Amino acid sequence: MSNLPSEPEFEQAYKELASTLENSSLFQKNPEYRTALKIAAIPERVIQFRVVWENDKGEVQVNRGYRVQFNSALGPYKGGLRFHPSVNLSILKFLGFEQIFKNALTGLNIGGGKGGADFDPKGKSDNEIRKFCVSFMRELSKHIGANTDIPAGDIGVSPREIGWLFGAYKANTKLWEGCLTGKGGTWGGSLIRPEATGYGLVYYVQHMIQYASGGKDTFKGKRVAISGSGNVAQYAALKAIELGATVISLSDSKGTIVATSEKGISPDDVAYIAELKVKRKQLTELSSSDQHKDKFTYIEGARPWEHVGKVDVALPSATQNEVSEKEAQALIDAGAKFIAEGSNMGCSQEAINVFEKNRKERKGEAIWYAPGKAANAGGVAVSGLEMAQNSQRISWTSEEVDNKLKGIMESCFKNGLETAKEYVEPAEGEFPSLVAGSNIAGFSKVAAAM
Ligand code: GLU
Repeated sequence: MSNLPSEPEFEQAYKELASTLENSSLFQKNPEYRTALKIAAIPERVIQFRVVWENDKGEVQVNRGYRVQFNSALGPYKGGLRFHPSVNLSILKFLGFEQIFKNALTGLNIGGGKGGADFDPKGKSDNEIRKFCVSFMRELSKHIGANTDIPAGDIGVSPREIGWLFGAYKANTKLWEGCLTGKGGTWGGSLIRPEATGYGLVYYVQHMIQYASGGKDTFKGKRVAISGSGNVAQYAALKAIELGATVISLSDSKGTIVATSEKGISPDDVAYIAELKVKRKQLTELSSSDQHKDKFTYIEGARPWEHVGKVDVALPSATQNEVSEKEAQALIDAGAKFIAEGSNMGCSQEAINVFEKNRKERKGEAIWYAPGKAANAGGVAVSGLEMAQNSQRISWTSEEVDNKLKGIMESCFKNGLETAKEYVEPAEGEFPSLVAGSNIAGFSKVAAAM
């Protein structure tokens, strides 16, 4: 019996990884990797601190800040910062743990970490958020740096917050260095970084579709259900539309919008939603705007999955555990063939079991699930490219970055696929498990380095 407090999200992420490793031939072929897993399950270091700041009324406020420096075998710790009231050590450990193997899959020299605070940006003024960022960095700046630990954004931390954090780092340390990624273009940011997670997700699914159809099929004409309406969801929607797909849904913490017309959600709608998000408004505003009210059905308190009608591709892109067992089954019943996570651990273990069972049983027919650590690796990959540009003090063009991103997503897909074939040996006609393959490929690289 462990005397440690329970950490449900971290335990879920750990068990998901460990069970796929156990059910493969990895430990028979490399018995020493068992010890590596035991070691890798404990962060190298966890930093916890208080963040004291003052609200607009002049009242003193306090929050809990964290940085989990999980694994630096492959390079400096790398991973986002999440500002959300749900943030606690279990959530940041799950995110940091996933990040280690995701970062390994990018092929870049980056270790894994994650951080954040239980600060809720909702309902706060710009001034209050800025003050929070400055106070947060007052402590965090002692523990990060361009060659030690390089945070970026995650939920609640957008390029604007990165700007305030970067300014505070510079003021505290007197260093202008690439200590954060997701920076603005004029001060060391990379082109395509804002788009990278969403674009990368769609590039990854393109490979799934191509492989499953023997090179014949594409995104054209596919119906795509997306959850979330932040940076990942917006750019996944735009790229899917560009490739000829119809995007049927988006959502936020209060509800879901489902397009009423066959044309689906348009790039203009996405631009309108992006503006709403900047103003920290909800999707309900769409149902009251004259320009948009007839184009969507708004379903209060719901996630998209049981409400989208016929669907080919599902991209959970909001937060962890946003697809339940029942919703996974509803997606399959609605025709979903390709499910790929834009969010981290978007599917519950029960939902993954539903997808994996269908993958195994419906041979020759793709019901194919891709975990976030492979499918959403595009964001951190372009963060890695931002670090490379900062080190060289140069900037690459959009085209250069986009091409590198495409190459990385292709190798994430192929690496997972080939590794599954080698270590899990799918039955005749069965699609290889991308969850097992990606876990084994990411973990092996880290274990070998350790
Ligand atoms: N938060 C993103 C992720 O979950 C990006 C992290 C980064 O760019 O460092 O991968």
